[in-house]
Amino acid sequence: MTTSRNAITRRDSFRLAGAAAAAAATARAADANPQAQPTAPAAGELNDDADVLVVGGGTAGTIAAIQAARAGAKTMLVERGSQLGGTMTVGGVAFPGLFHAWGKQIIAGIGWELVTETVATDGGQLPDFQAQKVPHWKHQVQINPYVYALLAEEKCLQAGVKIAYYEFPLSAEKSADGWSVRCVGPGTRRRIACRQIIDCTGGGDLAGMIGLERLREDETQPGSILYKVGDPYQPGREQLQALYVHGADSSNSVTRTQANLTGRQAVLKRLREAPAKGGKPARLIHLQSETAFRESYRVLGETVITHADYTAGRVYDDAVCYAFYPFDLHTRTGVKPKPLAKGVVPTVPLRALAPKTSRNILVAGRCVSSDRLANSALRVQASCMAMGQAAGATAALAAKGKTTPLDVPLADIHRTLREHKAIVPGA
Ligand SMILES: Cc1cc2nc3c(=O)[nH]c(=O)nc-3n(C[C@H](O)[C@H](O)[C@H](O)COP(=O)(O)OP(=O)(O)OC[C@H]3O[C@@H](n4cnc5c(N)ncnc54)[C@H](O)[C@@H]3O)c2cc1C
Repeated sequence: MTTSRNAITRRDSFRLAGAAAAAAATARAADANPQAQPTAPAAGELNDDADVLVVGGGTAGTIAAIQAARAGAKTMLVERGSQLGGTMTVGGVAFPGLFHAWGKQIIAGIGWELVTETVATDGGQLPDFQAQKVPHWKHQVQINPYVYALLAEEKCLQAGVKIAYYEFPLSAEKSADGWSVRCVGPGTRRRIACRQIIDCTGGGDLAGMIGLERLREDETQPGSILYKVGDPYQPGREQLQALYVHGADSSNSVTRTQANLTGRQAVLKRLREAPAKGGKPARLIHLQSETAFRESYRVLGETVITHADYTAGRVYDDAVCYAFYPFDLHTRTGVKPKPLAKGVVPTVPLRALAPKTSRNILVAGRCVSSDRLANSALRVQASCMAMGQAAGATAALAAKGKTTPLDVPLADIHRTLREHKAIVPGA
């Protein structure tokens, strides 16, 4: 029997019933979440406009986007991966520090809200921040990275942030109102017209792409690949095991690929060690999908935070947040953290988030303008979150006032940050 191309066969009718059920499920999901609306096939170009575009939804970028949106800015977040959290979730470094210094909280706001809600949702415990005779890392908060990623995404959506996963910028050109940014993703091309950009890519990728000056060392700190052998992994209750990945460099896809190849080879070598000596095989229980990067580029900003300023706890006249951690430079032989003198709490100036000679763009996170030693301390997660919140508030105000971040009155930035429960130096 021949089947005409238009006749519906029994197999087709099953397929159609399945498609109808899938369409109904999509419609139900769309009711629950407006972002789940089926989008038009991405042939051609998608167009968006935003007050604030955050590039990179990691440690700093998630907080920057939530803050900008909560401050009233139409906010878009472009993330090249498939979830939020960056090094905290995809890298597996799920122990943010440090929110407290010398027994007092110095970083709060949206990062703290997310971290404490993650711990509460997971039935976990906060450390005793008053305990002073313990090493600094005991004040880091153990979080369940899966819960963190879920809550981060929920808070972005609740604040009205539009998220574009799997995309990254190809170009950013100045326009009359700010920027025209072209992004690509699998099957997608998108043009975003925005007033302000916040580069939260870790290594200042966007700043570099548009020709802003960046700093880097000939030899950078090793990255690490995180994994677990033996007993089941207890997220939120323990840290993963880690192997150094020397030469790990997040600069581009070629260097990232190499870091993952090297990292995974190191894990395989580790698995083969015991059987080679006649022991039992070590069972691999958990392996992060990417190598985590400690160091690549730092942006050259209007101010460069030096290790002398950091050591002295300099309170900059345009300070927007605190940062607190020992100097923490990893080398081939490991790391010997160098603590700050008692009572010292460094600050981060707005000008270290503003690339030199730039307009309408800020950075936040580990690419903050700083010398290498200062950066080894500034790059930690609580500090990145505080920088993200400061950049989000400033960019929202700049977009609203149709001005550039460094022309926003500092008092307005401080007020907005305090309204959103951030701790502001000197307040
Ligand atoms: C092994 C290791 C151990 C560490 N230990 C600690 C610790 O104990 N305590 C602590 O607090 N901190 C620790 N840190 C430091 C800290 O985790 C990082 O410095 C910090 O998380 C970096 O935050 P970020 O927002 O700058 O970058 P990330 O969190 O890495 O986020 C960058 C995001 O940008 C995205 N992205 C990158 N390029 C693009 C692009 N072109 N377009 C779109 N998206 C892009 C990435 O996918 C990612 O989501 C550690 C770091 C490492 C690597």
